[in-house]
Amino acid sequence: MNKLPAFVPAAAPPTWLGVMGGGQLGRMFAHAAQAMGFKVAVLEPAADCPAGQVADELIVASYDDAAALAALAQRCVAVTTEFENVPADSLALLAARSFVAPSSACVSIAQDRAAEKRFFVDCAPSSGVMPAPHHLIACSADIDAIADHLLPGILKTVRMGYDGKGQARVASRDELRAAFAAGGGVPCLLEKMLPLAYEVSVLTARGEDGEAVVYPIAENVHRDGVLFTTTVPGPNVSAAHALQAQDAARAMIGRLGYVGVLCIEFFVLTDGRLVVNEMAPRPHNSGHYTMDACITSQFAQQVRAMARLPLGDVRQHSPAVMLNILGDVWFDDTSTASREPAWDQVLELPGACLHLYGKEAARPGRKMGHITFVAPTLAQAQAQLQAACAILGIAA
Ligand code: ATP
Ligand code: MG
Repeated sequence: MNKLPAFVPAAAPPTWLGVMGGGQLGRMFAHAAQAMGFKVAVLEPAADCPAGQVADELIVASYDDAAALAALAQRCVAVTTEFENVPADSLALLAARSFVAPSSACVSIAQDRAAEKRFFVDCAPSSGVMPAPHHLIACSADIDAIADHLLPGILKTVRMGYDGKGQARVASRDELRAAFAAGGGVPCLLEKMLPLAYEVSVLTARGEDGEAVVYPIAENVHRDGVLFTTTVPGPNVSAAHALQAQDAARAMIGRLGYVGVLCIEFFVLTDGRLVVNEMAPRPHNSGHYTMDACITSQFAQQVRAMARLPLGDVRQHSPAVMLNILGDVWFDDTSTASREPAWDQVLELPGACLHLYGKEAARPGRKMGHITFVAPTLAQAQAQLQAACAILGIAA
């Protein structure tokens, strides 16, 4: 493949990178880009947002504002996204004037569960992995055609789902009908409920020259549909499963012709089968451990990929456990008043790396930050996790 010139950081005039979205992933992207000498512009409708607080320029506008998109594209040599629900049309518009990675075509697949499932099925001959059995429900009449074996299942909206939002667990066809109606009749997928042994994710990145890298496999524990911890190396993950998931991820990112960081979630079933769940066209919560435990963080990798720089070493130098910090820890069970968690005590724990996202208002369930515990052994990192949970009042 012909190699196009890289976008190298420069001081005068500065080299600007752009990001669609102002959340924590955009903030950590900006930190990584700035550390490498780039300037960062963020486009986001909310004036006070985690990425806007650290960006060199914040363009406050809706994601489909043509003038704002033109300003972003004019300023930035390359633009990326920090959330999958960015309008694909906006990315296409940006691509007319700037280098956009990942592409609008790749993001459109990841933001549509039906297209995503089709991609996984198409890719199965080379990836060796299938998604969960599923059925598209575009209208209530489709419910009659559902095969019995898909129940009990999980009804998921085709678009805009994240952190378990837009999902309903249904045991029967009647419950399915009710859940579909309660969701307003928007297009959904019914997925068969599978017996999970554990969950893993594979973070991968690919450059425009076709070179791809795959990070160590991460084992994830969810609570109430939200990621709770990520452990690497995963205590349950066999070498064979790790290899199978990593090979599948490599096949998928290659087939997409993807440029950037892509995270693919898998289930390992109780019978040992590997099933692909979904993918995120951006750095992922389960990849936060790379910031403190790998040579190249997922955000530095995102910068390298979009700037057409060589991809960085994905080697993990320390076992790690990542704990998500939700707004719940600002409240105790008995009070509605918020308190500041005892970060001083948490930081006393050896190997604790605290990341807070600059969100002022703590609300239950809101992702406020994360802590990664790195240690010479996994057992030590896990012990620090337990200690931190005790300090923060999180049931371990
Ligand atoms: P996120 O954006 O946080 O990854 P999401 O809202 O996109 O989540 P999924 O990843 O599809 O949703 O599902 C959330 C969680 O629900 C999964 O991590 C898994 O624990 C459980 N889950 C989803 N689908 C199934 C299934 N088919 N069988 C069993 N459990 C499932
Ligand atoms: Mg998921």
